[in-house]
Amino acid sequence: MTNPKKPTQNEAMAGKESTPSANFIRHIVAEDLASNRHAGRIQTRFPPEPNGYLHIGHAKSICLNFGIAAENGGRCNLRFDDTNPAKESQEFVDAIKENINWLGFNWSGEVRYSSSYFEQLYGFAVQLIEKGLAYVCDLSAEEAREYRGTLTEPGRNSPCREHSIAENLSLFTRMREGEFVDGLCSLRAKIDMSSPNINMRDPVLYRIRHIRHHQTGDAWCIYPTYDYTHCISDAIEGVTHSLCTLEFEDHRPLYDWILNSLDLESIRQVSDLSSSDSPYVLPQQTEFAKLKINYTVVGKRKLKQLVDEGLVLGWDDPRMSTLAGMRRRGYTAASLRNFCESVGVARSESQVDISMLEHALREDLDNNAPRAMCVLRPLKVTLTNLPEAIELSLQNHPKKEEMGRRAVPLTPEIVIDRDDFREEAEPGFKRLVNGGEVRLRGAYVIRCDELVRGADGEIAELRCSVDLATLGKNPEGRKVKGVIHWVSATDGVTATVRLYDRLFTVANPESKDIEDFRTLLNPDSLRVLEGCLVEPAAASANSALSFQFEREGYFTRDTVDSTNGALVFNQTIGLRASH
Ligand code: ATP
Ligand code: MG
Repeated sequence: MTNPKKPTQNEAMAGKESTPSANFIRHIVAEDLASNRHAGRIQTRFPPEPNGYLHIGHAKSICLNFGIAAENGGRCNLRFDDTNPAKESQEFVDAIKENINWLGFNWSGEVRYSSSYFEQLYGFAVQLIEKGLAYVCDLSAEEAREYRGTLTEPGRNSPCREHSIAENLSLFTRMREGEFVDGLCSLRAKIDMSSPNINMRDPVLYRIRHIRHHQTGDAWCIYPTYDYTHCISDAIEGVTHSLCTLEFEDHRPLYDWILNSLDLESIRQVSDLSSSDSPYVLPQQTEFAKLKINYTVVGKRKLKQLVDEGLVLGWDDPRMSTLAGMRRRGYTAASLRNFCESVGVARSESQVDISMLEHALREDLDNNAPRAMCVLRPLKVTLTNLPEAIELSLQNHPKKEEMGRRAVPLTPEIVIDRDDFREEAEPGFKRLVNGGEVRLRGAYVIRCDELVRGADGEIAELRCSVDLATLGKNPEGRKVKGVIHWVSATDGVTATVRLYDRLFTVANPESKDIEDFRTLLNPDSLRVLEGCLVEPAAASANSALSFQFEREGYFTRDTVDSTNGALVFNQTIGLRASH
């Protein structure tokens, strides 16, 4: 038991970050608390299906569910909605748990699985049959479709609707015992084949599938449907507010029908509240709009396609909108939480501009990322009058002295970025030109005295002199405007740097008008620069750290490929919005 006085990590976090703004779900919860609907209890759950990795859309649902619980001293369960074993796996279960923790949330108690309620779900199905509210139907998939009717035409009753209760009980037992092949029959709710809501036209509750399950192994060959499982799992766990996305709005009547058709006391008895004296109240489903972001694919199905077809380098490819990918790219958990809070929760679909996400990221990194120097396209510079190395001390963050200082070696050979040099002065170019001066960031003013060309005619080296009177001071009698970054050529560490751009070239890759979103991939979404030089302090820093590489943007050490001493940095985002 957690001590009720000590705030949980979630509560502490909810208080620390941007103050929660009003939204319709917070409003519903506040009203339910005021009317004492659940005797003061607030319980939510995050119910992923382990058939893929979590994405930025899930982050919204996670922040909402865990946030609502934390704000109200309630609990939030993590429940794997694992009723479709064909598409699910333990790999996804593990990755999802890890991602939720990384995002900064802890679920209440043990991880839950819908599959651990299979026995109870079976018992409730028997109860529905006994009440004459469910029947075994042997229409083929095609026949069932035909009997279902359409949006404009009512459906027709299956001939199996007239089976006796005894017959249904016997058939359902035989389904469980594995007597029938896949698809031969199913268990259906007996509701109303002429309902205007197609979900209410005798929906399937159980299907036969002779397939192994990642949690229950070979124990079952019949599997309950999502709709049947979800509401009962919520009720078993004592969930008060079952928050889901809008596509389930039309399923709500079924959610309520199933729970109301069962004997309430029989649910309470198998529920987490069985031994509590709280009054038992059924959960209430409430729908909110999915998060959609332009230039981004959010749906799991499309993300899976990108991975399976090798269009990206895996679920955690830094260009993916998965939490694993965004983390590897250098997104911080705080920036995602702040973003989710800033987009809010509404009942109507809308698309969020990606600049909001990028803003949340830059804001967090600007405040918290130490500065460092990395030269992406090195050009050798010899400092002709610097006889030996000097150790400079640079502040890690310009506005935060508390972030400390680091030693930066200035050596007779350094590198600067090729883009920071021009042979001829161009109007507006404030960096180094032949014969001109520039300041090295945190160090001296240098003058370019001479160019050295390689055999190919390309500039291979600059020979520059240092004005040794300019450390922390302006030079006497002249103005030097430009400041460029640099790294010691001898003490710097070679790194590979990956530059990223948007994965899609169009704003709405998920739009219905687009025939094949895969044709709209940006061919330049990944550029790899080899032979970059990074200052020693950044090369040896804690690998989880993100940096602002001065004048280049925010970068983080790649966690996957920085093995065997290789140094790989992923660009997280540029310094300012460029699109
Ligand atoms: P997808 O549309 O990517 O396939 P899903 O809804 O099938 O997602 P689940 O694993 O079933 O994925 O989702 C777990 C929870 O996350 C559900 O409650 C779902 O409503 C919510 N969720 C999924 N996508 C989004 C999104 N884009 N915005 C907000 N919540 C989402
Ligand atoms: Mg789903």
